[in-house]
Amino acid sequence: MHREDRLKKLLSGVKRAVVKVGSAVITQEDKGLDQEVVEDLSKQIAWLRDKGIKVVLVSSGSIACGRAKLDYYKNPISLTEKQALAAVGQATLIQAYETSFRNYDIYVAQVLLTSEDLSLRERYLNAKKTLETLLKWDILPIVNENDTVTTEGIKFSDNDTLSALVAGTIEADIVFVLSDIDSLYDKDPRNNPDAKRIPEVEEIDEKVFKMAGKKPGRLGRGGMYSKLLAAKMSTSMGIPMVILPGKFKENILKFWQGEDIGTIFWAKPRKLPMRKLWIKYYIKPEAKLFLDKGAEEAILKHGKSLLIAGVVSVEGNFNRGACVECVNLEGKSIAKGLVSFSSEELLQAKLASKKTDREVIHRDNLVILEE
Ligand code: GLU
Repeated sequence: MHREDRLKKLLSGVKRAVVKVGSAVITQEDKGLDQEVVEDLSKQIAWLRDKGIKVVLVSSGSIACGRAKLDYYKNPISLTEKQALAAVGQATLIQAYETSFRNYDIYVAQVLLTSEDLSLRERYLNAKKTLETLLKWDILPIVNENDTVTTEGIKFSDNDTLSALVAGTIEADIVFVLSDIDSLYDKDPRNNPDAKRIPEVEEIDEKVFKMAGKKPGRLGRGGMYSKLLAAKMSTSMGIPMVILPGKFKENILKFWQGEDIGTIFWAKPRKLPMRKLWIKYYIKPEAKLFLDKGAEEAILKHGKSLLIAGVVSVEGNFNRGACVECVNLEGKSIAKGLVSFSSEELLQAKLASKKTDREVIHRDNLVILEE
C-alpha cells in the first residue's frame, strides 16, 4: 500500500493521540513563549477533538520559559538552578495554555510526572487512572516531566521518551512530535545542506540510527537520536510516531489532509501484553544478573523462566520484586525482569547450592530485549 493510502487508513481509525511539543518550538530563542505556536497548537488540538479524538499534550518548555521570565541566561547552570527555573517556567507555560484553550472551551489539567511515577506499578496505575478520568471528562491533560524533583540519574532521558511512555500508558493510536528538526534526514541537516528528508520509516534499525545526529538542540534535551529511541519504543508498542516541523503552521492538520511533510515511523504489530511492555520500557533496572549459556538459551529460545542455577554472578543489590537486567557471557543485555528473590537471598542460595532449581525471574515477569 502507498504511504498516502496507508496514512488515510491509519488516520481514519485514530481515537487517541499524543501531541508532543519541544522547547525549541514552543519558545523563541531567549524570548520565552512563542505565543503564535501556543495559539496554532490550541487550534489544531481543538480540531482533533472536534473529530472525536481524545488528546494528551506533552509539552516541554518550562526551563526555557523560566530562563526568559527571570532573564536568567547564565551558562552553564547547575541542576538546582534548572529545577528552580522549571518551577518558575511551568507556571507560565500552563497559564498560557489555560488562556489559549479557553478560546475553544477546553479545560486543561497539569500532569507532572517523574520516571519513578511510571516505574512503580502502583503509581503507574494511578497515573493511568488519572489520565483516563481526565480524558473521560473531556479535559486536555498537559504533561511535562516534574523537573523540580528529578535529578539526572532518575530522569526520563527527555520528553520524547516521555511522550512515547504516555502514549503507551493511554494506549494511544498515534504520537505527533512537533520538533525544530522537522523530519528525519539521511544526514544531520544542520551541517549538511544536501540532506534528504525521509518521509517514512518501516524499521528503525542501525542504518536509520546512523542517519541521526546525536547532538540535541540548544533548548531541549532530545535530538533526532533520542526521537528515534522514542519512536522505537512507541512503534514496538504498536503506536506509530510522526515527526513534524514544529514551527510550521497547522502542521498536524496539513499532515492529516495528506500533505507530504515530516516522517512517519510505522507501527510494528504489538507482540507483548501491556504489562510486559511496562517491564520492558518503563522500569529502570537496579542491578545486573550474569547468566550462563544454558540459561541464556532457555530464556531466549524456549521462553523459560530464569532459574537460580543459571545465574553466574550478580552486580548490585536489590530487594524482592526489583527490576534487573540479564546479561549474557559476552556482556550483552538480553532480557529484563522482576526478581522473586533479593540479592542476598539469591547469593545465599547459590553459596549453599540450595533451591537452585527455583525461579529467580518467572517467565511472566521476564521480557526479552530484542522481541
Ligand atoms: N522538561 C523539560 C522542560 O520542560 C524539557 C525536557 C526536554 O527538552 O526533553 O523544560
